[in-house]
Amino acid sequence: MNKKRIALLGATGSIGMAALKVIRQHPDRFQLVSVAAGRQWDKLLPVIQEFNLGKACLWEEAAAAELRRHTAAKVFSGMDGLLELCADADVDFVLNGLVGAIGCRPTLEAIRHGKHVGLANKETMVMAGAIINEALSRHPESRMIPIDSEHSAIFQCLAGRPVSEVEHIELTASGGPFRERPQATFATITKSDALKHPTWKMGAKITIDSATLMNKGLEVIEAHYLFGMDFNRIKVTIHPTSIIHSFVQFRDGSLMAQLGCPDMQLPIQYAMTYPERWSLDVERLDLAKVAKLEFFPPDFEKFPCLGLAYRAGSLGGTAPAVLNAANEAVVARFLEESIAFTDIPIILSQVLEQAALSGQSAQTARTDTHAVHGLASKASQPTLDDVLKADAWARAEAEKIMSRGIGKTAVSPAAKVGNR
Ligand code: MG
Repeated sequence: MNKKRIALLGATGSIGMAALKVIRQHPDRFQLVSVAAGRQWDKLLPVIQEFNLGKACLWEEAAAAELRRHTAAKVFSGMDGLLELCADADVDFVLNGLVGAIGCRPTLEAIRHGKHVGLANKETMVMAGAIINEALSRHPESRMIPIDSEHSAIFQCLAGRPVSEVEHIELTASGGPFRERPQATFATITKSDALKHPTWKMGAKITIDSATLMNKGLEVIEAHYLFGMDFNRIKVTIHPTSIIHSFVQFRDGSLMAQLGCPDMQLPIQYAMTYPERWSLDVERLDLAKVAKLEFFPPDFEKFPCLGLAYRAGSLGGTAPAVLNAANEAVVARFLEESIAFTDIPIILSQVLEQAALSGQSAQTARTDTHAVHGLASKASQPTLDDVLKADAWARAEAEKIMSRGIGKTAVSPAAKVGNR
């Protein structure tokens, strides 16, 4: 049997670590070919040694130089290095577990080279969903399977049925650590409070996004592009124990769910073995022990980031990329403890509304203002270049707002527009 040859991007993160566990369980069927990480060369080195890899990549050149001193493997760096691993003729499957906007171009490169892609990097679809879908239709030999647990659940429930048979999909959300915390105390939320996720162990950025519900918001946009579903047919339900990973409501009244213990090994392996299911040594769900499942509607007042994501998604064009990039900038500042938790939606709302304004003017004036203002109008399908420009604009805009200092003003009404 031919082994599936894998490039693992984001090898030192939580997705990467889980992927390595999966690969170790099937040494006769999976072959790790290359790995990429940010700057943790010392964490990457034992992986290179264990799997006897010939190729690796580190985002930071200085870290790559350090790694080169310890291994005979070819060590690439930066975006060129990531693209190199994705285009590699020795690779069949690219597992994209990169964090943030840098994951977008590698996904596109892998598709263009006909690879199968396991996508854990939701930013790819948030920023460039239409571009990715177009690339997939031009490269039928390629395919992309979601790894985000909610999207894997929906993919599994859909089981190939067309969205015309679906009434709506329902993404479950744990609700994060502040689900029960009174909103009046949100201003005093610290970084360490926000880093305590109730059910999933993940990296810092996504954990903060889970606390603001921005993670769920980005997942709504991701689902829109992955499944071709209108925003009014994508719902969010708070389900604190994360046992049900998401639902599909079919038009005949059947509600399908996918359940399991919260462990990313399952969606990772499924993406790699689809449509087959292989054995996997993860904890089994004991329903008698679970005993009951709880659900609540999301609170758009308390968590304005969720409404902001629906707003960006409905604006279309490069608005999702703007929101995503601004959020990355703002979360980085929150992790440096230079802004408050409650500042996050305020800044994001300002950046998004500014982009929306310039997008509208671009539409009416029919001029190419997005290069200046960062937002391509909804009428025009943005190119990857538009997306990357919008990303850069939004980061700069968010930094500008933060450098001016954030007033403790209320979030603009637009930020509170929800999905229902
Ligand atoms: Mg998720």
